[in-house]
Amino acid sequence: MNIILLGAPGSGKGTLSEFLCEKNAFTQLSTGDLFRDNISNKTDLGIEAQKYMNEGKLVPDSVTNSMVEKYLESKAKDLIFDGFPRTSDQASALDDMLAKINDQIDKVVYLDIDESVLLGRLTGRLICKVCKRSFHKVNRKPLKEGICDFDGGELITRPDDQEDKIKTRLEAYNTQTAPLIEFYKDKIIKVDADNCTPEELYNSVIEVLGA
Ligand code: AMP
Repeated sequence: MNIILLGAPGSGKGTLSEFLCEKNAFTQLSTGDLFRDNISNKTDLGIEAQKYMNEGKLVPDSVTNSMVEKYLESKAKDLIFDGFPRTSDQASALDDMLAKINDQIDKVVYLDIDESVLLGRLTGRLICKVCKRSFHKVNRKPLKEGICDFDGGELITRPDDQEDKIKTRLEAYNTQTAPLIEFYKDKIIKVDADNCTPEELYNSVIEVLGA
C-alpha cells in the first residue's frame, strides 16, 4: 500500500511517518530529508535546492520530480510519501512514475489542523541530525537536552523553522499544496490532527486505513 501524507508544515507528517515505518513496515520517502541530505553532502542538487529552502519556497517541480523518480528506481513498495507531492504538477508526475512500474497511490491521508497551532509547533521543533526524528522544546522533550533519545545524535533547529520562513512556507502550502485535497478527492481520508498526541494521531490513522 502506498500512502501520501498531506498536510501543512508542522501538521505531524514526519512523526506519523516515523511511527508507520517502525510499527507497520512502511518506507518513508521525505523529499525534505532527501534535499537536506543533498545539502549536507554538498551535491549540485543540494546547492540548487538550498536556494529555495533557505527562503521557505518550494524547490522547482522539475528538480523535485527527477529526484523522486531516481529514488523510486531503487525502492517502490509500501511507501509513505511525506512532503511529496506538493503541487499539482508533482501529483501528475507521481501518477505517471508509479504507472510505469504498475503501481499507484492507494490512500491520501490529509492531516487537518488549525493554522494557529502550527507556528508554536514549528518554532519549538528540534530535529536529530542523524535519524531525522523530531522532538519539541516543550511538547516532546528529549530525555537529555540537545541529544536524540534514539541514537545520541545532536538535535538542531532547522534553518527554515524561523518565523519569517514559516510564513512563506504556510503561504506556499495554502496556494500550491492545499489544492491537492481536490486532486485526490477519491482517495482522501481526512484526520483531525488538532489537539492530539502523536500516538493518538497514529491510532486514528491506523483505524481509518484498516492497516
Ligand atoms: P519539509 O521537510 O517537508 O518541511 O520540506 C522542507 C523544504 O524542502 C520545503 O519548504 C521546500 O523548500 C523543500 N521541499 C520539500 N519537499 C518539496 C516538494 N515536494 N516540492 C518542492 N519543495 C520541497
